[in-house]
Amino acid sequence: MNAFDRLSDLAYCLMELLGRILRRRSDVLAEGDKVTLNVPQNPKLHGQVAMVRKLTQWGAYVGCTAAATGEYRALFSEMEAERRAAPPLEGYTGDVCCCCGGSRMRRAGACSFCEECGTTSGCS
Ligand SMILES: [Zn+2]
Repeated sequence: MNAFDRLSDLAYCLMELLGRILRRRSDVLAEGDKVTLNVPQNPKLHGQVAMVRKLTQWGAYVGCTAAATGEYRALFSEMEAERRAAPPLEGYTGDVCCCCGGSRMRRAGACSFCEECGTTSGCS
């Protein structure tokens, strides 16, 4: 490996890293997500729940009924993403048990079966 190879390797790593940092912001939000607006300078909109319509480099256009035009241009720092449901564990359906609130639901034929309390649901 010569010096040039090593240099381009390094450059590639840096590009990767930079890409990851830049991508992180948009990974947090997706179009259709609900966000809570954090704009204390705008009491009318502060604390309102809005829906992300279009992501941009600086933030997003969000739909918000409290905004005069029904749309607000929010910076990333002005939005708090609502917690998204955790992806289902492997082998589980991702449903929550009606009876114990557990998330260890397994598919059993047409029903789901709760490993925590033994209830079956969704097959009546
Ligand atoms: Zn249960």
